[in-house]
Amino acid sequence: MTQTPLNPGDSPLVREALSSVVSRETSAQKTAASPGAATGAAAGVRDGDWPRPAKTRIFTVANQKGGVGKTTTSVNLAAALSMHGQRVLVVDLDPQGNASTALAVEHRGDVPDMYKVLVEDLPLAEVVKEVPDMPGLYCAPATIDLAGAEIELVSMVAREARLQRALTAYDVTFDYILIDCPPSLGLLTVNALMAANELLIPIQCEYYALEGLGQLLRNVDLVRAHLNPTLDLSTILMTMYDGRTRLASQVAEEVRSHFGATVLSTLIPRSVRVSEAPSYGQSVMTYDPGSSGAMAYMDAAREIAYRAVTV
Ligand code: ADP
Ligand code: MG
Repeated sequence: MTQTPLNPGDSPLVREALSSVVSRETSAQKTAASPGAATGAAAGVRDGDWPRPAKTRIFTVANQKGGVGKTTTSVNLAAALSMHGQRVLVVDLDPQGNASTALAVEHRGDVPDMYKVLVEDLPLAEVVKEVPDMPGLYCAPATIDLAGAEIELVSMVAREARLQRALTAYDVTFDYILIDCPPSLGLLTVNALMAANELLIPIQCEYYALEGLGQLLRNVDLVRAHLNPTLDLSTILMTMYDGRTRLASQVAEEVRSHFGATVLSTLIPRSVRVSEAPSYGQSVMTYDPGSSGAMAYMDAAREIAYRAVTV
């Protein structure tokens, strides 16, 4: 079910997206693409604490395609930011709980999780856990129970606003909140889009990279129109870049010509170390800080942190 773009139980605004036929050019064509993206060139250098945003930056990390790097991006950007003096919360909104696994936060059995927050009104404070050995980094885990939320939320009051309410009621201050979405455009993702002020879309550098993106962007438009007018598609990150293939560079070029300055200059390379890290309950930032993947995620996080100063 989670792989299908739209589920029968989706909210009206999601259904409306189906009938919206306007082919949408992104509003994010801000300026010309930055040339010659780096893959972690300047990374590894410790540069102290980064500037803290004036108010919490809440990112939804979404793309209804599975396996494009949403979880990897959420976890590693969060780790990188926390290593530079930021207080960061990762909200795991995917019933598979991959972000919770990667951050070594218990998410099996009766562990209080995001399902209980969204469906049973449990305060976030009772769910959020510190990530071991990562000062400043916290995680609100997902258990498999969350799979039921997609259906159970349908009949609930203010079903699109459950996450926003929970975050508003949670009186702990973070610099960044990253919401890791499931691979669908259902109510969990709509809750994330409503709760966020920024949208980060990871795009995998492969042939079908842009397929389905139109649908995501139409949903974002609907969320803006009905639920969250200030949601900003602020960041696109290209992931799993394989510099040896022409295809990858063609895709990267195409994405840049579509989305301009929204696309981070940093490309995340394909790196075995990135995919190994979760099985050790770690981000690649601590598992192998000198690896190309870790250095690239550090660069991407730095770009995001310094963009904060101008927005
Ligand atoms: P999503 O959350 O969008 O489904 P994931 O972040 O789980 O995607 O990534 C899908 C798979 O690709 C995972 O096995 C992950 O370890 C692997 N992966 C992600 N990014 C990279 C990368 N830069 N290099 C190598 N493997 C990666
Ligand atoms: Mg995931």
